[in-house]
Amino acid sequence: MNQNYFQNKNILITAGPTYEKIDPVRFIGNFSSGKMGFELALAAANLGANVTLISGPTCLDINHPKVNRINVVSALEMYEECLKHFDKIDISILAAAVADYRPAFYSDIKIKKKDDDMNIQLTKNPDIFKTLGQQKRNNQLIIGFALETNNEIENAKNKLNNKNGDAIVLNSLNDFGSGFKHSTNKITIILKNGSIFEFDLKDKKEVAIDILTCISRNF
Ligand code: C5P
Repeated sequence: MNQNYFQNKNILITAGPTYEKIDPVRFIGNFSSGKMGFELALAAANLGANVTLISGPTCLDINHPKVNRINVVSALEMYEECLKHFDKIDISILAAAVADYRPAFYSDIKIKKKDDDMNIQLTKNPDIFKTLGQQKRNNQLIIGFALETNNEIENAKNKLNNKNGDAIVLNSLNDFGSGFKHSTNKITIILKNGSIFEFDLKDKKEVAIDILTCISRNF
């Protein structure tokens, strides 16, 4: 990799899950650990980038003078923080598992159990990737992630086009050792020009280096 490529570049990374509150003690969330995003933040900072890491709830720590960590809880909070910083960002890497929906109504008191079934109405969250893709200038790059269970390449390509990204990192749940609960990941990177790069199953620390190397070689 060109060791100078990331020097003093401003990089935005989203990481972790989002929690969508139902009432003061309950939420809708997902199993994302945040590990992939945190490894990317550390690797980019070690290469001299100024990293803004916008993280949903995780138990991970990061301590690096070039990482500015901003903690958020919900997708709406993540969206607002991303928009606040996007203007001065050169490269956005959107590794967060953002909840697509949130409860339409928040109860500020704990909801009581009833004898019959219960429904929770959900409303759509904003798509951070798509919004940033619409605002993107020619000198800005956006790299997204896709977790697919079927028609992986085709779905990931569609996602890349619909959201106006520059590349998408596909991690397939079909690959053993890949995805949410593992410290390893098996990725395929698809560029907007259609080039496809496949990688072996590796520790997420090495995957982070592969992703940054791919960006530095192709953009
Ligand atoms: O559409 P889908 O959720 O599968 O897209 C995944 C990609 O979009 C990831 O990069 C994720 O971080 C991003 N995303 C987002 N905002 C959302 C949903 C997904 O930024 N509300």
